Amino acid sequence: MTSAGAGRFAPSPSADLHIGNLRTAVLAWLFARSTGRRFLMRVEDLDDRTHADIADRQLADLAALGLSWDGPADRQTAHEQRYDAVVDTLNARGLLYECYCTRKDIAAAPRAPHAPEGAYPGTCRDLTQDEREARRQETQRPPALRLRTDTVECTVHDVLHGDYTGLVDDFVIRRGDGVPAYNLAVVVDDAASGVDQVVRGDDLLSSSPRQAYLARLLGHPEPVYAHVPLVLNSARARLAKRDGAVTLAEIGVPDALRQIADSLGYAAATVDGMLAEFDPQRLPRVPWVYRPR
Ligand code: GLU
Repeated sequence: MTSAGAGRFAPSPSADLHIGNLRTAVLAWLFARSTGRRFLMRVEDLDDRTHADIADRQLADLAALGLSWDGPADRQTAHEQRYDAVVDTLNARGLLYECYCTRKDIAAAPRAPHAPEGAYPGTCRDLTQDEREARRQETQRPPALRLRTDTVECTVHDVLHGDYTGLVDDFVIRRGDGVPAYNLAVVVDDAASGVDQVVRGDDLLSSSPRQAYLARLLGHPEPVYAHVPLVLNSARARLAKRDGAVTLAEIGVPDALRQIADSLGYAAATVDGMLAEFDPQRLPRVPWVYRPR
């Protein structure tokens, strides 16, 4: 099967990758390569600007597993004008508004009866010009920019989860500190690099309706999604570095590949061998509980 599209892996360089992140990367590579797609690597460093050393180790670990990607790894901080241009476009279309709320304000605001936990209550949505000016003076900090969505539902199709519907609230496009929001950066970067297949951990499934909504708004085609089960520790909590023996440096390449292959039910313990056995329909649908051997 061939395709002009691309899949990708997009690590944030906040810490060394653990076995769960490595397994997600292997799956993203398997999904891309098994469908004839290019595989792209994107370092999501907007929040971790000073962590070039961690990013380098992450890329070295991925290469050590045998993963290959097309072209050099992209870095979000290398093209910030890209996000600014989209913010300007959305602004010119009248789709953005300034938000002066803190997290605390949002948590304390009354919510509409059926609004989900954490959904923006719309406090700054319909302020008059005078009210905005007053809020600016009061808060003394630069506002975030939110997208006016009318809080619609958006349904995405996921290879593993089927149709998934989520409410799209007025989510943040640019944070108060001026950094493009994750949801904006992902959509803009995926479109700019021709990504049409998004494989990532299923903790991000609930972000996909917002991202798909924004992609449609910007006229970008919607990618194929596959949100893969997370990896848990023996207490069935999300795996973290403090669980110990979770990074490639701690586990070693052969053992890490063997454990990833076992968790997916493959005999082969190389990525090329796993590619030959890969069948997306037969992937485990439940989290993998990782126990150091
Ligand atoms: N950078 C995000 C993370 O490391 C993943 C973003 C994505 O795959 O869309 O969790």
